[in-house]
Amino acid sequence: MSEDFYELLGVPRDASDEQIKKAFRKRARELHPDVSDDPDAEERFKHLAGAYEALSNPDSRARYDQFGEEGLKGTGQPDFADFGSFQDLFDAFFGAGGDPFGGSQRTATPTAGQDQAAELSIDFLESAQGTTRKIDVELIGPCDECDSTGAAPEAEFATCNVCEGAGQVEQVRRTMLGQVMRRAVCPQCQGQGKIPSERCPACLGRGRRARVEAVEVEIPAGIDHGQRIAMRGRGHAGAPGAPPGDLYIHVAVASDERFVRDGLDIISTVQITVFDAMRGTTVQVPTVDGEQEVELDPGTQPHHEVVLRGKGFPAIGQRGRGNQRVIVEVLIPRADGAEGKDALDALESAIDERAYGGDAGLLGRLKQAFR
Ligand SMILES: [Zn+2]
Ligand SMILES: [Zn+2]
Repeated sequence: MSEDFYELLGVPRDASDEQIKKAFRKRARELHPDVSDDPDAEERFKHLAGAYEALSNPDSRARYDQFGEEGLKGTGQPDFADFGSFQDLFDAFFGAGGDPFGGSQRTATPTAGQDQAAELSIDFLESAQGTTRKIDVELIGPCDECDSTGAAPEAEFATCNVCEGAGQVEQVRRTMLGQVMRRAVCPQCQGQGKIPSERCPACLGRGRRARVEAVEVEIPAGIDHGQRIAMRGRGHAGAPGAPPGDLYIHVAVASDERFVRDGLDIISTVQITVFDAMRGTTVQVPTVDGEQEVELDPGTQPHHEVVLRGKGFPAIGQRGRGNQRVIVEVLIPRADGAEGKDALDALESAIDERAYGGDAGLLGRLKQAFR
């Protein structure tokens, strides 16, 4: 993206350093992760920060004025890659919580748990009706051996010598706005403020460990192949006091030889002989709710479509269902023996010409469909 830096910051080209700084802070504030719902906030913030960095330095500003972004190449454009999260990036500019809101220093929060993903296969009928499944998922959870303290059963606790019991440490970072102080969870005691004389042998002192958990997944009726179910807070456990991650279940739906899904509709076929097509018949049609009887009129044409209302898929979280469309296939046998030919000749002469009428034909039906 190569938007003009001055336009990005909303300042005139002859703006003073102070104006540029003010404009940057004002715009950045709107993109703060605690405030903005904009999914692109992080990207926009990076552009903004890049523009600010270029214009806040007299040398690079002069080059930008003369040559545009080309002039900044090879001069060390800002690299934000080593910031863990958007919040970290923000903190690097403004100090943890101190700015841009002007409040007091934010307390460093322990790291939230990571997301986990799992896969699940269901059959076609289950996708139409919904189901509940238990699946095994490997998850990092609290250590029950030590109650997540990370300490061996007989261990004694001593005050952490790194944070002196505070559970947090202050770190100084150099940024384009000068040095900023940020608080971080103490790496030695993970925010506990104390360390055990002996570590829990089960979790090696981490307070968390991986295990296989049987997770019950509710699969809503109407789910389609390739869709994903989000289970908030069911992912890996976070550091003590931090929220867990989310669990995402990717759903695969097996195909069914009787049905094909088309949006919320289900398409199936039924085969009848040409004789049944001529005299009319009743057929048993499979639906996701079980067999259903369908009557076919005398003179049913090949590819005739019977619509079973409400026999399709429900839209997830909504009322009503799609339809099932049953397409009639007419089986036409060969009649090349003398006897068969005679019988057909007799039949043909017995049928009134008007009995052929009344059908729009394939082209007519197509025209109707596209009207
Ligand atoms: Zn500590
Ligand atoms: Zn443990």
